[in-house]
Amino acid sequence: MRRPKSKEFRKQQRLSEEDEINLLNSWIQAQKPDSGTNPMSLKPLPKNSPVGRLGDNTFSRYAGVVRFEQLPLSKKTKDALRASKFVSMTDIQRASLPHSLCGRDVLGAAKTGSGKTLAFIIPVLEKLYRERWDVEAGVGSIIISPTRELAAQIFDVLTSVGKNHGFSAGLLIGGRKEVAIEKESVNKLNVLICTPGRLLQHMDETPYFDCSEMKVLVLDEADRILDSGFKRELNAIISQLPKRRQTMLFSATQTKSVQDLARLSLKDPEYLSVHEESITATPTLLKQIVMTVPLDQKLDMLWSFIKTHLQSKTLVFLSSCKQVKYVFEAFKKLHPGIPLKCLHGRMKQEKRMAIYSEFCEKRSVLFSTDVAARGLDFNKAVDWVVQVDCPENVASYIHRVGRTARYKSDGKSVLFLLPSETQMLEKLKAAKVPVHLTKASNSFIKEEKAQD
Ligand code: ADP
Ligand code: MG
Repeated sequence: MRRPKSKEFRKQQRLSEEDEINLLNSWIQAQKPDSGTNPMSLKPLPKNSPVGRLGDNTFSRYAGVVRFEQLPLSKKTKDALRASKFVSMTDIQRASLPHSLCGRDVLGAAKTGSGKTLAFIIPVLEKLYRERWDVEAGVGSIIISPTRELAAQIFDVLTSVGKNHGFSAGLLIGGRKEVAIEKESVNKLNVLICTPGRLLQHMDETPYFDCSEMKVLVLDEADRILDSGFKRELNAIISQLPKRRQTMLFSATQTKSVQDLARLSLKDPEYLSVHEESITATPTLLKQIVMTVPLDQKLDMLWSFIKTHLQSKTLVFLSSCKQVKYVFEAFKKLHPGIPLKCLHGRMKQEKRMAIYSEFCEKRSVLFSTDVAARGLDFNKAVDWVVQVDCPENVASYIHRVGRTARYKSDGKSVLFLLPSETQMLEKLKAAKVPVHLTKASNSFIKEEKAQD
């Protein structure tokens, strides 16, 4: 509980916030990075060089800096970042924040697990803060995610990094019963984190739902949101948003298609792709193997894998809800000696959320469809990603294996391919995904033979 603050105190606070905002605005204006440049190519500021206002109208440079402390951010955001132990920026944060903080449209591409979430949460908070947004002002920012679990995760990051700010944030995702309650509160929310369907439902049904003043739109997993699966929803959403706004798009597999971007009417977007020169499209600490497995041996192979990795936290991708249910039920009866869980789109939302949090906490095997393929950052790291079926395309492969080896941790993945699917190997190699084709006998199966 916060102690009620006196009128005098609040007035003081308001004045000092006003000073801070003026300072931030002048600083941001004075040191804008050049359009079309990547701030990472600049020499970092020396470690103890002064930060902020240096003289009457001179300010420290914020493009090219290494630590959050050196950016023109509010004290509220800086304090929260420090409390969460976020000190040095990742590459995509260094590259994009100087541009996004000064209000530019940004397309950010960086490998899975490289910190893209903070790269958009921070500018959203800062924009609303500098605009002195409050509860009465209504919706100021909309963040769109392709899945409910990812939306929930972004919501958690927003509430932790934004905890010192007074904004209200809401998670609007399908499958929740409280849509009626949501309808009452949705106009009082400043930041909406939503899946496309639910957002559109509110736009269509909620009386007085008003986004006409919103300032910042974010599409996380942007290429997925822009693909055909969400086309109708996204077009309908965009048509109801103001044209004058900041738009930020992030993904590990970014779209460059002019047509896609035209739909969003971006204004001179900054394209920041920080790992384009990297030798691999996947995290450096990820070890990836591929095995050819005939169809009739896939389940035996999966079973052997699980039995030989009882100490690992494993995420298994299958291609349909039906398969997930089938394999989960069958293997559960065989008691492998490690907890098994399953996740797919036909489950009730409460159950989905519960499974997701349990899998974060505990060593277990999770059988899942592609609902878990994108964005999720399982709190206690995943050791193995197993793809029992060939993914639809290379992007899908990159996102699935990206559930392990996140930030600075390592991880392993294995893909089972049918003998007829080996052309996938060429596609992966062409996309700079370093995979090694191995025989079952000399990879993870060790001495144990595949069991029936
Ligand atoms: P991406 O969206 O690029 O896949 P996330 O935003 O999910 O990656 O971040 C991956 C992990 O890295 C998260 O656990 C996050 O807390 C952590 N992380 C992000 N930025 C930093 C940072 N600057 N310092 C330390 N950890 C970070
Ligand atoms: Mg992400």
